[in-house]
Amino acid sequence: HAHVDHATPEKVMAAVEAKDTHAKIPDYKPFAAYKDEGGYETLADLRANGDWEKLQETVLDAGLRGLGGAGFPSGRKWGFVRANAGTRYLAVNGDEGEPGTFKDRYLLERDPHTFLEGMLIAAWAVEAEKCFIYMRDEYPAVLHILHKEIAALEEAGIAPKGYIDLRRGAGAYICGEESSMIESIEGKRGLPRHRPPFVAQVGIFNRPTLVHNVETLYWVARIARSGPEVLNSTEKNGRKGLRNYSVSGRVKNPGVHLLPAGSTIVDIIEAAGGMLDGHEFKAYQPGGPSSGLLPASLDDVPLDFDTLQPHGSFIGSAAVVILSDQDKCRDAALNILRFFEDESCGQCTPCRVGCEKAVKLMQEEHWDQELLEDLCGIMVDASICGLGQAAPNAIRLTMKHFSEEV
Ligand code: SF4
Repeated sequence: HAHVDHATPEKVMAAVEAKDTHAKIPDYKPFAAYKDEGGYETLADLRANGDWEKLQETVLDAGLRGLGGAGFPSGRKWGFVRANAGTRYLAVNGDEGEPGTFKDRYLLERDPHTFLEGMLIAAWAVEAEKCFIYMRDEYPAVLHILHKEIAALEEAGIAPKGYIDLRRGAGAYICGEESSMIESIEGKRGLPRHRPPFVAQVGIFNRPTLVHNVETLYWVARIARSGPEVLNSTEKNGRKGLRNYSVSGRVKNPGVHLLPAGSTIVDIIEAAGGMLDGHEFKAYQPGGPSSGLLPASLDDVPLDFDTLQPHGSFIGSAAVVILSDQDKCRDAALNILRFFEDESCGQCTPCRVGCEKAVKLMQEEHWDQELLEDLCGIMVDASICGLGQAAPNAIRLTMKHFSEEV
């Protein structure tokens, strides 16, 4: 048995602090520059004489919804958490493990303090006793930045020492599911919990917990500072607001593109510089692998919350992947199911065994569509969490729109 030098959290954090992470630390806006632009004044004003219900009203007016994927109205969550007495916590979901999603990383590597101020504002609104940031460990530059900038906040007296607890995720996709993330923060294996009770009532160490995604908190700060207009003054195709789409696949300029929430796939491809030369647009994944694949013919649907439901899909975290005539949708769908097979936490049979069976059936040259549909029905009905419930989208949508391939 070779000697193993275990990477303790202290050792890793020391390496992160020493920049010994092999990560290129990008130029970002540090504390001093953010403060010079009036940063943390909104927080100070709210702490001095703010009314949380007024701020909640502003956030609801803006139409802000959870940008980790679930799309729950952010202001309403505050009310649910506050309805419970005693110690309350705030947890930031920075796991961002959805393949194709990188918007949180994009924001944190440029402007970490707008997010941090938003977090402290939300913590003030629900009177949270402590904030936990659960950060994807595969983002070493982000960990470095947050570590340093949280220290700057403590130094400046904006956050008491230890008030913000930066936690490293350990690479499990399922820990992006909020109740599983909470288990992980508590030091346990990341298994999703049954609900009810909801985490707003029984969260970290059984205390009411407000869980927000990184980008959601970024917008909380912008709305608190400038009013609901930062979001609700943009309107397109009957939809209000803005979306940070993470765009990848067969486009010339993959990356994060901030567009109106009513944008269609045509607008998104255009913003991403158009299709790669020699590629013809064939299909797209609108919001992470759980959203499945839609055909190019559905090119007039605004890619927003609720609008994709009639098509058996959803926008999720707005991770858009563009496929071309050089891709096979059956291969992409199989790839998605292989991912879920790997990442299923194994807690419940419909998902653990269902994903494995689906992969086997999808490897056949001709799919047994009746059997696959049967399997999909059971997974949707009987899985504990969203992973198993949404995994069938990729199977069903491929059978529906790309039947000639299967
Ligand atoms: Fe775990 Fe899958 Fe069940 Fe979710 S659906 S609890 S990931 S086995």
